[in-house]
Amino acid sequence: VGSHLYAGGDAVRGPATIVEAAADGRRAAAAICRQLGVEFTRPEADFPTLTEEDIIARKMARARRVPQVEPDFLPLEHRLTFDLVEPTLTEAQAQAEANRCLQCSAFCDKCVEVCPNRANYTYFTAPVDVTLPLLSCREGRLASDGTTRFRIAQTRQIIHVDDFCNQCGNCTTFCVHQGKPYLDKPRLFLREEDFVQEEDNAFYIARQGADWLIRRREGGHESRLTLHSDGSACFEDEHLTLTFAPGLAVEGYELKAEFAGTFSPATAAEMAVILKGVVESAPYLLPSRH
Ligand code: SF4
Ligand code: SF4
Repeated sequence: VGSHLYAGGDAVRGPATIVEAAADGRRAAAAICRQLGVEFTRPEADFPTLTEEDIIARKMARARRVPQVEPDFLPLEHRLTFDLVEPTLTEAQAQAEANRCLQCSAFCDKCVEVCPNRANYTYFTAPVDVTLPLLSCREGRLASDGTTRFRIAQTRQIIHVDDFCNQCGNCTTFCVHQGKPYLDKPRLFLREEDFVQEEDNAFYIARQGADWLIRRREGGHESRLTLHSDGSACFEDEHLTLTFAPGLAVEGYELKAEFAGTFSPATAAEMAVILKGVVESAPYLLPSRH
């Protein structure tokens, strides 16, 4: 394109995975769009909603060892011509090979299964797709400064319980993405005294009367969200308070102390999703069971 050359895959990085090659292609497409001044929109991933039976069927399929499908190699005694020694797969062979797919994009759970200390847990959430206002301070008041979309398509999520983790790194080795689950996933602390020592990505859940409270620490600062039994929620940090209707639409907001820049309620919505998901589908992680 113009005087620019875009390349990716094996030609650039040497032999690697098709996933990395596809990611290179997407990065190149984004760069070309930028160069041409065209908007690049990432295609939205479509995640299937799996029933418990679907999950069990896939786990059983994964547990069976199915050998790789080999093409019909040309027998040695016939390799005297220009006939292909290794032909491409037939349609039936290709389908059989495709059926060996572990379907990690449908559900993974590898970090849950491989952790020797049971420090990673699956919890469930309903899909969420809501537009939230971006908030900033104007003349001593909070004002909406555009919007952001908060979307959760995968109903199966992972939470990490830091108290159980010895940072062996096994989950990182097996993660099908290039993630570090024990650092990247929301880190739940079961003991308040440990939670308050953390700077980033730390969560603590407690009872608050009939409601549930989740506390979060990012950049050394704490925020709190209370989930009420009707599904509504209240968020508070040092700068503002927010109220969410059930379904996570923002109902109201109030300034406590002026701040610079823009606040995205997505961080508060994440807290609501984690809290509701853990309360409803992983209650064994809640304080009353400790
Ligand atoms: S690093 Fe932590 S979460 Fe990951 S496998 Fe090791 S103990 Fe488990
Ligand atoms: S963090 Fe990695 S290993 Fe864990 S579920 Fe997600 S992709 Fe799989």
